[in-house]
Amino acid sequence: MKKCVKCSQKAVVHLPHHRLALCKEHYVEWFENRVEKTIRSFRMFSEEDRVLVAVSGGKDSLGVWHALWKLGYIADGLHINLGIGDYSELSERKTRAFAERIGRELHVISLREHIADIPTLKDLQDRPACSVCGTLKRYYMNHTAKKLGYSVVITGHNLDDECAVLMGNVLSWNLDYMARQYPVLEEGKGFVRKVKPLCLITEKESALYAFLSNIDFVEDECPYALGASSIDYKLVMASIEEKSPGTKLRFYSEFIRKVRPMLVAKQDVKLNACRVCGEPTTGDVCSVCRLKMKLQAQKVS
Ligand code: SF4
Ligand code: ZN
Ligand code: ZN
Repeated sequence: MKKCVKCSQKAVVHLPHHRLALCKEHYVEWFENRVEKTIRSFRMFSEEDRVLVAVSGGKDSLGVWHALWKLGYIADGLHINLGIGDYSELSERKTRAFAERIGRELHVISLREHIADIPTLKDLQDRPACSVCGTLKRYYMNHTAKKLGYSVVITGHNLDDECAVLMGNVLSWNLDYMARQYPVLEEGKGFVRKVKPLCLITEKESALYAFLSNIDFVEDECPYALGASSIDYKLVMASIEEKSPGTKLRFYSEFIRKVRPMLVAKQDVKLNACRVCGEPTTGDVCSVCRLKMKLQAQKVS
């Protein structure tokens, strides 16, 4: 039987890549310290910032909100209802219940009211659901945070998510996207700051924290997640990690430390304010306004 390295009680968690065995209480403490350390070492935000957590209802976003609450940060939540049938209804319900549990304010917006639900937009576009969904989530997170006066948006992306994105970008050598992959996306040019305090925490660690903290999160995957290439990349990374613990952490953190600084120096993206809504875009009209125009044209014809 393994013993907790802190108190010698029976360990419930073994983290081979950190050479750690911990009991429940010390695991929760380790997790929250790691979140705090990540916030500080990347200078994600300070006491003066008004902070908004983008909460989907899943383990990562509710987990990061819970950890911030335990650490004493005042952070409100933003839930975007995507209109994906029962999955979205359950996600909103669980997010509302969680906000009530920790006594923090939750803003809820519905894509159906702002533009249209994901199933409708998926049919309209010749793109996978996740691609249009990602665009809309980024747009409304930024737009809502600015409108409500928040200076920082927190997302629950974990180390496995970051590794999957990095692997996808490496496989196609997408240097522009690689240059933008960082735990902090600075404010400016119409964007509020976006930060990822779970970027050094694996999906398993995050799930365990949610479980040990009695967080009632949505366990079902979104119906559109099936077939997304990020799932294949995660499986590949998981099998390498199994044989060689610590690979994920090394892959991501060494990229951040050694490779990204070289790429950033070469980056030069010009942004304009969208002619219709004023949000930042590389073109003349942003992709969300173009989607709205397409929907309008479809209704007329
Ligand atoms: Fe959106 Fe795709 Fe995630 Fe579903 S799996 S919530 S469609 S990004
Ligand atoms: Zn212990
Ligand atoms: Zn626009």
